[in-house]
Amino acid sequence: MKVLVTGGAGFIGSHVVDRLIAAGHDVAIADNLTTGRRENVNPAARFYAADIRDPGALGRVFEAERPEIVSHQAAQASVNVSMADPPRDAEINVIGSLHVLEACRQHGVRKVVYAGTGGAAVGEPKYIPVDEDHPVDPLSPYGASKHAVEHYCSLYRANWGLDSTVLRYANVYGPRQDPYGEAGVIAIFTARMLGGGEPIVNGSGEQERDYVYVGDVAEANLLALERGGGGMYHLGTGIGTSVNALFEKLAALIGYARPRKHGPALPGEVFKIALSAERARRDLGWRPRVSLDEGLRLTVESLRAASQASSTAGVVRPGRSTRRSPN
Ligand code: NAD
Repeated sequence: MKVLVTGGAGFIGSHVVDRLIAAGHDVAIADNLTTGRRENVNPAARFYAADIRDPGALGRVFEAERPEIVSHQAAQASVNVSMADPPRDAEINVIGSLHVLEACRQHGVRKVVYAGTGGAAVGEPKYIPVDEDHPVDPLSPYGASKHAVEHYCSLYRANWGLDSTVLRYANVYGPRQDPYGEAGVIAIFTARMLGGGEPIVNGSGEQERDYVYVGDVAEANLLALERGGGGMYHLGTGIGTSVNALFEKLAALIGYARPRKHGPALPGEVFKIALSAERARRDLGWRPRVSLDEGLRLTVESLRAASQASSTAGVVRPGRSTRRSPN
């Protein structure tokens, strides 16, 4: 099938692209490279530098590609950025997504697979693991903007027959996650521990998240091309892991011996959450296959290889060490 992946140069989007290509699909990417990177782009995919806030640019991509399916992964994906600048978050995540849906409607796209969020949309859970029937009550503009698009997906389906499947991710981790990014505690801790820096735990460290490996998320995106029409699915392991426990697991893997340091808690964050993926198992035939211990090992290996390669090549990524928050 012809699939257009928005955000296909990003962390999750690039794994989705790789999985679709491995399964034999014909893939194009639209990404403006704000957080995505050219190095992530699979050489078998056609790349378009396009901003989803620009309907003209999107129209040209859709005209050239005529995709049957759009996998919409592009977003402003940071809770912190959304807290600092809610309108900017909404411009990308709501208005940008609407331009994507409009382009789909105008160009006869059959289906959209939308990357939603479980943790940030649900708010502080009333029960754990959280299933799809749990009420939604976002604590951050990011959670609200990502959730708003779920409604647009279903009304485009009802009014204009554009099929959609919403995949609500838990906390995704794995190779290619930006260790200097706004989010992604595993990548950030790993890079700091490997680079001789000091990871700072925000707050008590007792906050729990459901960590799901990026390869498993890519697999769900592949399954959703042909299954789960009109549905919304939580993708998680059902297991919460505290930041303190993560720190200890990574320290043991890397051989990092310094004691844990704590900083202030971040606003807008849920305290404890884990997602039930029972519906995804039933309808999509999906379940997470990579355990946290195995996924952490793969992530450490890949970051270690990347940092060795860049130090051999004398590559420094300027201005990257100080500007971000730790998780
Ligand atoms: P990412 O920042 O690595 O990927 C986002 C991609 O979108 C990047 O390649 C970026 O360049 C691109 N992009 C951003 N703004 C754009 C614009 N205006 N026009 C075109 N492209 C644009 O983040 P990620 O973690 O890979 O997130 C991918 C998707 O998964 C997002 O929709 C995010 O909300 C969702 N998600 C991620 C997680 C997680 O744990 N990482 C959890 C829940 C949901």
